Amino acid sequence: LQLTLALIKPDISAAPTLVRAVFARLSAAEFRVVRSRRLTLSRPSAEALYAEHAGRFFHNRLVTFVSSGPLWALVLARPDAIAAWRGLMGPTKVYRAVYSHPESLRAVYGLTDTRNGLHGSDSPQSAAREIEFFFPEFDAE
Ligand code: ATP
Ligand code: MG
Repeated sequence: LQLTLALIKPDISAAPTLVRAVFARLSAAEFRVVRSRRLTLSRPSAEALYAEHAGRFFHNRLVTFVSSGPLWALVLARPDAIAAWRGLMGPTKVYRAVYSHPESLRAVYGLTDTRNGLHGSDSPQSAAREIEFFFPEFDAE
């Protein structure tokens, strides 16, 4: 069993029907939601979360977007959870998701390259860091 950190970004989180649809896809793919939290990130917190992208051309719009409204932060458990959740989300860019992975969540619910609905940790190290970021009291042992 592996853990990963998923975010349902403000575009999807603003629409309860879409949030329910994402949770339905999660359970269909046999993920367990072991922690969940609805919160709104301050701009400095969003900058800390996405510090790895500081200096990229999309950094400002990304930070503005993720701090623009409520998020759902989820700790997901499943065998191979990191890769499985990234597979279920689909490619970062929505137009690629639409063409190459039309069933993926970003293909179905993403709007633009920035407003792509979802986030998933990309390695065990980033999963540990991001779980600690959103759930400092969570003990993975
Ligand atoms: P995430 O980290 O959100 O799971 P990812 O790992 O697929 O997505 P990253 O390269 O880490 O993609 O980019 C982080 C986020 O920055 C993306 O999810 C998207 O919201 C935004 N982003 C990435 N590339 C672009 C781009 N070319 N134009 C606009 N926004 C982008
Ligand atoms: Mg990433």
